[in-house]
Amino acid sequence: MSTETQTAFRDALVAHGLLIPMGVDGLYGRSGVFEDVVERFDALITQWGKDDGAEVMRFPPALNRRHFEKSEYLNSFPQLAGTIHSFEGNERDHQTLLQKLHDGEDWTGMQRPTDVVLTPAACYPVYPTIAARGVLPERGRVVDVYSTCFRHEPSLDPARMQLFRMREYVRIGTPNQVMSFRRSWLERGKLLMESLGVPVAIDLANDPFFGRAGRMLAANQRDQGLKFELLIPITSAEKPTACLSFNYHQDHFGLLWDIRTADGELAHTACVGFGMERVALALFRHHGFDPADWPQAVRAVLWG
Ligand code: ATP
Ligand code: ZN
Repeated sequence: MSTETQTAFRDALVAHGLLIPMGVDGLYGRSGVFEDVVERFDALITQWGKDDGAEVMRFPPALNRRHFEKSEYLNSFPQLAGTIHSFEGNERDHQTLLQKLHDGEDWTGMQRPTDVVLTPAACYPVYPTIAARGVLPERGRVVDVYSTCFRHEPSLDPARMQLFRMREYVRIGTPNQVMSFRRSWLERGKLLMESLGVPVAIDLANDPFFGRAGRMLAANQRDQGLKFELLIPITSAEKPTACLSFNYHQDHFGLLWDIRTADGELAHTACVGFGMERVALALFRHHGFDPADWPQAVRAVLWG
C-alpha cells in the first residue's frame, strides 16, 4: 500500500478541516461535520439492530486491569496494548521527576501502573459483566456497546488510528444462537453499507496475533472461518480497509469467564464491530469531503 496515497488523503482531510492533527500519527481531533457523519451512522446501526432487542451498555474507554489480565489479551496482542500509569511518589520523588523532565531524561519511570488499562475492543468489558450475573437466560444475551478503543499502531494511514470508536453488538449464548446472529449480521452489515453507496466486499480475515506462535493462531483463525471483515477501499484499491468485522470466538470468552448457558454448557460468543472513523472516512473518500454534496440517496439514508 502506498504511503503517498495515505498521506495525500490524510492531508486532504486535514485541509478540509475534517481531521485535526495532534502531532502524533494516529491521534486526531474531529470537526463538527465529521462528528455529524459518525452520529448519523451510529443512529443507522441502531435502526438496523433494533429487532435484536439488545441491552445497551456504555463503558468508559478503560478496563479493570484484573479483567484485562484475565482476558489473555497480552498473550495475543502485547504490541497493541496501552496501560495507564500515574505518579504515586512523595515530594522528594516529585523533585526527581521534575529534574528528569527538565534535563530531558526519561521521567516516566517515576510513574507506576494504575488499576486501569485502555480498552482495546469495545466488547471486552461485556464478558466479565455478563459472567457476574450468573447463568444465561434461555434466549442468551445481546449487548450493544460503544467505546473509544486504543491500539498502539501509529500509522500515516488516517484509517489506522491509535484511538478510535467501535460500536459493537455482542451475542452470548449457545453455538446455534451465536452462529445465527453472526450469519444475520454478515447479511445485514453488507446491506447497511450498500445503502450508503460505497463499494463493499466481504472476506475471510485474521487478527494481528503477535510473534511466531501468533502466525499459527492467525492461520487457524482463517481455517476455521472465525473472522470475516467488510472491506471498503479507502487509501488503496488493492488493499481495501476493514470497516466492519464479524467475529466468532467459539467458547474462548465463555471458558475464560465461566459463562454458562441455561443448560449448563459453556457459552459461545460472537460480535459484530463497526469502525466508526473508518466508515466516515470511507464515505468522505467515495462521496467527497462535503456531505452537502453527497448523492441524495445517501443523504436520505443518513439524514432522512
Ligand atoms: P485491521 O485488520 O485493519 O487491523 P481489525 O480487523 O484487526 O483491523 P478488529 O479488531 O476486528 O479490527 O476491530 C473492529 C473494527 O474496528 C474494525 O473492523 C475496524 O473498522 C475498526 N478498527 C480496528 N483497528 C482500527 C484502527 N487502528 N483505527 C481505526 N479503526 C480501527
Ligand atoms: Zn468484539
